[in-house]
Amino acid sequence: MGCGGSVFSGTTQGIDRSVVEQIVRQVALEYLGRPANGVSPAPELTVLASARHMHICREDMDILFGKGSELTVYKDLYQVGNFAANEKVTIIGPRSRLISNLRILGPMRKQSQIELAFTDAISLGIDAPVRLSGNIADTPGAIIMGPKGSLELKQGIIRAAIHVHMNPAEAALFGVKQGDLMKLKVGGPAGITFDKVHVRIDPTSRLNVHMDTDEANACGLHLTKDIELIK
Ligand SMILES: [Zn+2]
Repeated sequence: MGCGGSVFSGTTQGIDRSVVEQIVRQVALEYLGRPANGVSPAPELTVLASARHMHICREDMDILFGKGSELTVYKDLYQVGNFAANEKVTIIGPRSRLISNLRILGPMRKQSQIELAFTDAISLGIDAPVRLSGNIADTPGAIIMGPKGSLELKQGIIRAAIHVHMNPAEAALFGVKQGDLMKLKVGGPAGITFDKVHVRIDPTSRLNVHMDTDEANACGLHLTKDIELIK
């Protein structure tokens, strides 16, 4: 995605492009409530590893946990309103291989979905495609067992694509839009640069990269704070 040889050298209707970029940056920084003098070049980046989990719809909740049952909060997550629930299920793959204690993340969603790392999917014998959360057409399913019943999930098992949550002001600061891909450069002794970090913009979001446990282990996420998000 290079810009040819004209980076910053052109003009936009007489205004130097670097001046425009500086103004955009300044506005974004002021919106974020940070000094616009370049002391704080970017909002603090939080990178979190998501362990395998399930998102559940009302209908499946009724079957697995009983009619009208509700998720209860075990722990609040970084994104406001999201939480790890006390409720857990067992996922059963082909040839009866299973993973128990699969935690549900709340709140409930319109459709059920299970996010596994490749290691989990391999141990279950399920070929999980890499998808953004919510995009589950033509994905594999499995048998799900809860304390009050079980069901056949027809589809919804994915390996979640690595992504970054941000609000519109943060997106302006990075100069990215919904669906763009960014790079995440992880330093440290096992450092890796991820090239396909999907941008997900929402007004309620806090700047936060989500990767799964395979990705976190591969780059030694726990070993370093030297992490950079690059357009
Ligand atoms: Zn996420």
